[in-house]
Amino acid sequence: MSRAPTPAVGMAQERIHRHNVGTLLRHVHLGGAMSRAVLAERMGLNRSTIMALTAQLVAAGLVREEPPGGGLATADPRREEARGRAGRPSLVVRVRPNWAYVLAFDVAVDRLVAARVGLGGAVLDRREAVRPRAGADLDHVVDVLARFGRQLYEAAPADSVCVGIGASYCGMIRPGDGMVRFGPDMGWVDQAFGAELSERLGLGIPVPVGNEAHLGALAEQQRGAGVGLQNLLYLHGDVGVGGGIIVGGKLLDGDGGYGCELGHMVVNPYNGRPCGCGSHGCLEAEVGERALLDAAGRPAHLWGRDALRSVVDDADRGDESAREALRRIGDWLGIGVANLINLFNPGMVIFGGMLRDIYPGAAPQVRHRIATNVLPVARERVRLRTCALGDDSTLVGAAELAFADLMADPLATLARTRPH
Ligand SMILES: [Zn+2]
Repeated sequence: MSRAPTPAVGMAQERIHRHNVGTLLRHVHLGGAMSRAVLAERMGLNRSTIMALTAQLVAAGLVREEPPGGGLATADPRREEARGRAGRPSLVVRVRPNWAYVLAFDVAVDRLVAARVGLGGAVLDRREAVRPRAGADLDHVVDVLARFGRQLYEAAPADSVCVGIGASYCGMIRPGDGMVRFGPDMGWVDQAFGAELSERLGLGIPVPVGNEAHLGALAEQQRGAGVGLQNLLYLHGDVGVGGGIIVGGKLLDGDGGYGCELGHMVVNPYNGRPCGCGSHGCLEAEVGERALLDAAGRPAHLWGRDALRSVVDDADRGDESAREALRRIGDWLGIGVANLINLFNPGMVIFGGMLRDIYPGAAPQVRHRIATNVLPVARERVRLRTCALGDDSTLVGAAELAFADLMADPLATLARTRPH
């Protein structure tokens, strides 16, 4: 005779069950369609448990099951399972891509982006505006993004459901409430960006905000160049240089959430260029946009991604001063990266943002610094890559931030959502 579990045991089992439902959803959300057999192996659970977890997600409308060749499974799941035991390949579980979605926002240094991203990660719809470098106050940024967000929400299919919202911002963000503590390029100090955007969207959904380089690092690990790696570095260049460091599968966020400011690592304290932070010789002062443009002899009124790409293009065409500028930037970048490899022993270093454009021309100097300055055992396996998600690394990161609640507890999160 079995006894009823004590309340504490029941609660613990309930927590484990919720965790397993979320973990299964996360596997197919990030990894694409996979068979019950593969899910059982990856999650270390037996097939009947996987079948029960999947049934809950099917009933909730988040996933569907199909025979391996495609097409919807119509047979009774118990009969399918019985046939599975008789040697047929097990059913494939995949997300329903157009029903549950998130709104993702990206405040980048030169553009404002909003997107509707479906479960599974596909960008279903997007809006984009050029962001002026100076004079963009909170009101203007939130106005543009909220208008885009409302348009995306209203254009979504009538029976679809918004399960979360997330935003990426190029500055230092207080975890939990989306407060921008410091946004150097726009001069923002303590601006309640997440709360304002949530209010102005009027969907009754909070807007968590993440630092762009932190989110870019996570996105590249989850969906980009670093899939499968537990230790990686991501350097995101715009006007300055931001960073994301993933150690043991987790982002290093620091005591207050402001960690990984790789751009303000001092690499040239004696003769260094002045940095926006008030210091001298920070990595971003030596390798940021202005450093490259000055090194290439470009006048002060030229700036931005186009100016930067023109230096790279000139270097490709053989222009010696442009090549020399990339070499100089590459040397400083290499010094920074060599220090970071010695500290963190990453499996990969990923260059994103404008560093994606600069890295190919700067790679020989970076590799030379690594060969010269990194301890031999730490450089044995490290790989250097440009970001695989292109300019969308940070947007994809914002979308994953928005999906976090759904992945943590799919059924409870769905229960909180409002129909369109
Ligand atoms: Zn600095």
